[in-house]
Amino acid sequence: MREDIKELLGGLEFETTAEIEVPEKLIDQVIGQDHAVEAIKKAAIQRRHVLLIGSPGTGKSMLAKAMAELLPKEELEDILVFPNPEDPNQPKIRTVPAGKGKEIVEAYKQEAMKKAQARNMFLFMLVFFIIAYATLQNQMLWGIIAAIMLFMLARYMIPREERNVPKLLVNNAGKETAPFEDATGAHAGALFGDVRHDPFQSGGLETPAHERVEAGAIHRAHKGVLYIDEINTLTIESQQKLLTAMQEKKFPITGQSERSSGAMVRTEPVPCDFILVAAGNLDALMGMHPALRSRIKGYGYEIYMNDTMPDTPENRRKLVRFVAQEVKRDGKIPHFDKYAVAEIIKEAKKRAGRRGHLTLRLRELGGLVRTAGDIALSEGASVVRAEHVLRAKKIAKSIEEQLADKYIERRRDYKLFVTEGAEIGRVNGLAVIGESAGIVLPIIAEVTPALSKEEGRVIATGRLQEIAKEAVWNVSAIIKKIMGRDISNYDVHIQFVGTYEGVEGDSASISIATAVISALEKIPVRQDIAMTGSLSVKGEVLPVGGVTQKIEAAIQAGLKKVIIPKDNLDDVLLDAEHEGKIEIIPVTRIEEVLEHALLDSEEKEKLLEKLYVSAEAL
Ligand code: ADP
Repeated sequence: MREDIKELLGGLEFETTAEIEVPEKLIDQVIGQDHAVEAIKKAAIQRRHVLLIGSPGTGKSMLAKAMAELLPKEELEDILVFPNPEDPNQPKIRTVPAGKGKEIVEAYKQEAMKKAQARNMFLFMLVFFIIAYATLQNQMLWGIIAAIMLFMLARYMIPREERNVPKLLVNNAGKETAPFEDATGAHAGALFGDVRHDPFQSGGLETPAHERVEAGAIHRAHKGVLYIDEINTLTIESQQKLLTAMQEKKFPITGQSERSSGAMVRTEPVPCDFILVAAGNLDALMGMHPALRSRIKGYGYEIYMNDTMPDTPENRRKLVRFVAQEVKRDGKIPHFDKYAVAEIIKEAKKRAGRRGHLTLRLRELGGLVRTAGDIALSEGASVVRAEHVLRAKKIAKSIEEQLADKYIERRRDYKLFVTEGAEIGRVNGLAVIGESAGIVLPIIAEVTPALSKEEGRVIATGRLQEIAKEAVWNVSAIIKKIMGRDISNYDVHIQFVGTYEGVEGDSASISIATAVISALEKIPVRQDIAMTGSLSVKGEVLPVGGVTQKIEAAIQAGLKKVIIPKDNLDDVLLDAEHEGKIEIIPVTRIEEVLEHALLDSEEKEKLLEKLYVSAEAL
């Protein structure tokens, strides 16, 4: 096995993920959220509410489900609703141990059926005698009429018997674990229960009130876990009700739509002794009812979820297990061989967006696992191989990445990229769209003597104006110190070619500086080079985000070399297909950038000489 692969796998020796053991319990499958796991375990024992705050796909609902597994199932109960003869609009509520509810309903049904049968028998006999008697009296017609009337009466009478059969509101028969109810985005009726409308409100045809009662998620979660993600999207009124339900541990069911017949009905309080696991991102805290939040704070746990975990051999081994877990959970896709797992771990490094870390946005990573599995499956492969993962990466692209692809395509069509030759004042910068897609962002600078007498201006187009100004400010300090020129005697025009919504520009400052210097000194810039990096006032090149994605964009655009901050060198994680396709030049100072980017010439030599001399003086 290749050393780098072995290292990626945290030293784990295996051929395919079929050999990797997956823990039985869901709580033991949770990766990288150790403090959350501890809190959930404690909260399960003490029956405390929990608030999970963090990015999507980091395991919040998984933790809530895992908590339900930890709760005792011996305590589970069934909930029944009975008619109330005294007040039909207030059905009665009874709880019985899990499994008993069904038996009770069955017994009532049997009873009702027996009564109905006896009545039917009696009716049949009666009809028989009436007709027989009428026939003897030569009054057969009257006999038949009487029999029909009797039958109609019976039709109305018999269902009456069944109207006493209770309804099983919450059924926990045969449950393996305590209930887990996901009420994310549920409307009030789904959350707190409802009483259906009855179109026939009287006349003996109506459905009895208790039969129209529907349990809410809070009731189905009785003795289990109620999970609500995006808790802030719940109306304040609903949050208030939820709080009441949490305090009282029971909540009556009423019709939720005001004008329906259901609104007249209100059951006795229905048990709802659930543990609330509320979730959301940081914004969720703002939209949360303060009383609900303080209830959880005071009686439970608030947990912030990790977005990444340190890139250690132990954590890489956990990701190996993650792939095995996802394969097992999916149930249809084949297992991964070690090279395919290594690709997934590489991707986890890349997606962390932070040196020495692995991503914990595992839902997305799980999506990649499944897509790769589907590709392997469609080819009839018995294991998923590295090539399947590489192809899956192409398909499973985020919206931003797809946009970037379209963007690159379009630009190529319009020949907006220049990838050869040299031009004055034009630089192939690199930027990131969204979180994960790189693009080539050409920058053009022009320098003209200032129009206004007092000082020159920086004129930039598009949304990157602020960044452009800052970058020019930084170069101007350098230019002044080094070359003794005052840039404020000039107007500097900066144009971002085909700027695009959502482009982040912080990393464009060495590109802007290079373009300006090139324009000022009239030295052409090589167009087969792309660059990214942030510039300090002292001329240092500082690290930036998204280097890997940017380099990939440069490769796609057909560029030959790419200049990056030396501090970012460890962040470069190219896919196998991209490796060796471009020359990566790490730099620490602006002079090095110019040395590589400017076209060789006498002027360049002179400029660099001056630069190096004064750089030493700095
Ligand atoms: P969230 O609720 O935070 O949006 P989920 O719990 O729904 O995320 O995660 C979706 C899926 O992603 C899970 O079912 C699991 O397969 C995987 N996953 C997410 N986070 C983790 C984790 N920390 N450990 C293991 N698997 C995870």
